[in-house]
Amino acid sequence: MFGLRKTLGSLFKSNQTDEAWFETLEETLIQSDVGLPTTEQLMIKLRKAAKSEKASTPEDLQQLLIQEVAALLGAIEPSPNPLYTHTLIGSPEVWLVIGVNGAGKTTTIGKLCRLFQSQGKSVLLAAGDTFRAAARNQLQEWGGRNQVDVITQEGGDAAAVAHDAIHSAISRKSDILIIDTAGRLATQDHLMEELKKVKRVIGKALPGAPHQTLLVLDGNTGQNGLSQVKAFHAALGLTGIIVTKLDGTAKGGVICALAHTLKDGPKPAILALGKGEGIDDLVPFTAEQYSAELFN
Ligand code: GDP
Repeated sequence: MFGLRKTLGSLFKSNQTDEAWFETLEETLIQSDVGLPTTEQLMIKLRKAAKSEKASTPEDLQQLLIQEVAALLGAIEPSPNPLYTHTLIGSPEVWLVIGVNGAGKTTTIGKLCRLFQSQGKSVLLAAGDTFRAAARNQLQEWGGRNQVDVITQEGGDAAAVAHDAIHSAISRKSDILIIDTAGRLATQDHLMEELKKVKRVIGKALPGAPHQTLLVLDGNTGQNGLSQVKAFHAALGLTGIIVTKLDGTAKGGVICALAHTLKDGPKPAILALGKGEGIDDLVPFTAEQYSAELFN
């Protein structure tokens, strides 16, 4: 359950909306990672509605908040969602998956593999994190669980793995190739350069690829998560984001802050949310449902 939702419950059940009520709401939104600019924007609308008596009870204001946030999140809702369409846009369709260590990248790749297979697509995985043997092993475990091959190279370079994997996927006629990458945050510039190189090599091996550049983001990382999104998007041009760990203790509001951060220019869509460690714990993102879940 979202922490945000719990705290807001008593506010929306109260029977009056005085100044203290608005202040508590404002504080709760900020604490829940909704972000200052978004919170301020929402509070102006809610206060105005209360003043004009358009929304006079806490319940009316709750409904208005749900509507406003759904409208805000509409800008980052995918349409159509490339995870759930049945048309392939490449042969193979190549997904480059990036994100810092611990974000849930490998787990998410395992979930994606299962999802694509359930749609009748054949999948090949590539272990682009050539630095950590553990990352490679973990990906191989997910591959084993899904009965899917994993292209690896010991000690090789990530771009070489990607190049090999594309040729393997072409010769095997795989529908989808998912390429995992390294995510060492300590050396951000170096990481970005390496990922750019991987992307370039993929494009050379298969024109038009990667068809999706997906960032896996830990939903608990708050403001730090927002700067990760900005940095990865600026360097690599993200097309999609999956936000993980939105089960348990996550505050959940970070997606509102994301919508605000990404409001200008071409932006990646939020494709899905990770809601657990299991292979099926991936749910599609829709603005309306997410907003209702946050504030109900
Ligand atoms: P990577 O380093 O980015 O590849 O991250 P991993 O896939 O190894 O995940 C790091 C940890 O987060 C593991 O313990 C996962 O089981 C856990 N994890 C990943 N996704 C989720 C999620 O959606 N919810 C929860 N609760 N845990 C997750």
